[in-house]
Amino acid sequence: QAKAAGRNQVFVYNEALSRAREEEIELLTGLRDGLRYGQIVPFYQPRVSAVDGSIIGMEALARWKHPKLGMVPPSTFIPLAEKAGLINQIGTIVLEQAVEQREKWMRNGIDLTISVNLSLRQLCETDFSAVVEACLNRHSCPPERLELELTETLFSDSDPIIQENLNRIRELGVRIAIDDFGTGYSNIARLNELAVDCIKIDRSLVSQLPKNEEMVSLVIAMCKLMQVTIVAEGIENETVAEWVRSHGVHELQGYLYGAPLPAACAEKLARNSNLRFADISVEQDHFV
Ligand code: C2E
Ligand code: MG
Ligand code: MG
Ligand code: MG
Repeated sequence: QAKAAGRNQVFVYNEALSRAREEEIELLTGLRDGLRYGQIVPFYQPRVSAVDGSIIGMEALARWKHPKLGMVPPSTFIPLAEKAGLINQIGTIVLEQAVEQREKWMRNGIDLTISVNLSLRQLCETDFSAVVEACLNRHSCPPERLELELTETLFSDSDPIIQENLNRIRELGVRIAIDDFGTGYSNIARLNELAVDCIKIDRSLVSQLPKNEEMVSLVIAMCKLMQVTIVAEGIENETVAEWVRSHGVHELQGYLYGAPLPAACAEKLARNSNLRFADISVEQDHFV
């Protein structure tokens, strides 16, 4: 009897597994179509100055406008794209659109730094730095107005192509940021070697403040030694904002200042610094 039950369980498990695979394949087919039909678009989340709260930059965050499923979040399609070898294509689309958007904002009198997230796979492409350079030229973007965000997973990889790309990108004058700092395995020596311009302290650390203030203070002290721009991610309330401001963080990002928004909404926010995020989007959940 127990044996039969076991067999049943295996059956149920297999069925669930094949359903999951089917769903994945369907999603992947959809993603290929989505790429073809321009359904991958960046949303923009503001980065504000700790000094006066003014918006100094925007981070481009990929969204998939699925015709049936609605707005698909990156947590669903980025890992899938990585697995299926589509991440480079997505990365190029987001980079191109974001730098083009920056140029449009610039023409409208808003001078912002644009941040774009990178996958390790993009840095493994031999021509990646040339793609970045061509994009900057196409949209007359000063290199220091582009920041590329990398995660710490990068540090464990010794692929020489990655290093070459990073060197060339830095030579161009493009800024390099370490994203989600404090979540992964940090190789401090490697971090120093990379000579990054900016460190973004991860939301998981920031959101616990001031409970974990000793630890975050240490992270900030280290960033100061390295003379990098310090950004705190995931600021959702004034208490946390005040803590990071008073501890020398340079820039703040989080729902308190704005969730990722479509370009037009982000522009409204940037144009009117007195306008709080809550004023421009009643349905703010819709955008997140
Ligand atoms: P990330 O680069 O660390 O971006 C921050 C994420 O935290 C975003 O999620 C943002 O919506 C969310 N967030 C911002 N402020 C708050 C807050 O105050 N509270 C909370 N709870 N969340 C906040 P999103 O847009 O879902 O993106 C998730 C991740 O997907 C990104 O994390 C990034 O690693 C990746 N990603 C997004 N776009 C791209 C892309 O174009 N290329 C690559 N390779 N990865 C991307
Ligand atoms: Mg990021
Ligand atoms: Mg981050
Ligand atoms: Mg994060």
